[in-house]
Amino acid sequence: MRTVRLPSGEQVAAIGQGTWYMGDRKSEATGEVAALQLGIDLGMTLIDTAEMYADGGAERIVAQAVSGRRDEVFIVSKVYPRNASRSGVPAACERSLKRLNTDRIDLYLLHWRGGHPLAETVAAFEALRQAGKIRHWGVSNLDVSDMEEVSRAPGGANCAANQVLYHPNSRGIEYDLLPWCEKRGVAVMAYSPLGHTTSRLLHSPALVAVAKRHGVTAAQVALAWGLRFSHVISIPKASDAGHVRENAAAIDVVLTAEDLAEIDAAHPPPGRKRALDLL
Ligand code: NAP
Repeated sequence: MRTVRLPSGEQVAAIGQGTWYMGDRKSEATGEVAALQLGIDLGMTLIDTAEMYADGGAERIVAQAVSGRRDEVFIVSKVYPRNASRSGVPAACERSLKRLNTDRIDLYLLHWRGGHPLAETVAAFEALRQAGKIRHWGVSNLDVSDMEEVSRAPGGANCAANQVLYHPNSRGIEYDLLPWCEKRGVAVMAYSPLGHTTSRLLHSPALVAVAKRHGVTAAQVALAWGLRFSHVISIPKASDAGHVRENAAAIDVVLTAEDLAEIDAAHPPPGRKRALDLL
């Protein structure tokens, strides 16, 4: 598995695994745990979750998937904006640690900006980091102006990652946020890299044509496309074992200039500043 360097120097898997909707249905838990375990076996050792997902249920699925192999895995979780106060962050973190059945979260993110001042959330993250409860912290769904505010806060330079929507139909971050993060060594985690519900994006004639040339699937092309930047981590969610295998193998897909031009023609890059797309 290729890796992406965090500002601390630590390397993490460039393709990880999302968990949104996991833990929602009891009948699917066994399959979801098995899918995550297969993904870990195939090198997708970064697992993204959140206190929001299935009301903590996704964190419980992750706990089962990493049981007995915690040290192999890099766990990312997220705090709700409503919990992002100086006292709310450590309390939410303790609840997540309990559900995850672990003593530390590797990367803890603010899920999106809410009512609490960013500097307060940063202070809470820094305190958790110093206490060893989290190893790194970052943000999600923040555009450049918010990132600048984070970086001005005491300790704000320690922001390790920004997790944002990024796929061929949602390229606004290429205009300014992606280069902003690259310049400062902040990793960008591309969420919904397959377009979330997948049907529209994965039927894109351009992606399908490129996939055909390489003898791979449109999903693998979408993942390889996002990973053309060395500071981007992609976190597709897959509960299906076949999808998990495909996603892990996407690391070997290398797109040519011709492929990228064909994708650009159908899914144009931004020519001006756009508001940050959210899901
Ligand atoms: P996604 O990963 O773009 O798409 C997930 C869908 O794609 C699932 O229906 C999955 O089906 C299917 N799929 C997976 N691999 C496939 C393949 N190789 N071929 C065809 N279909 C495939 O969408 P997402 O779940 O929205 O985003 C990924 C992760 O990002 C989330 O799970 C979550 O961890 C994170 N996220 C974060 C935020 C945020 O605000 N920070 C927002 C959205 C998402 P199966 O499950 O049946 O395999």
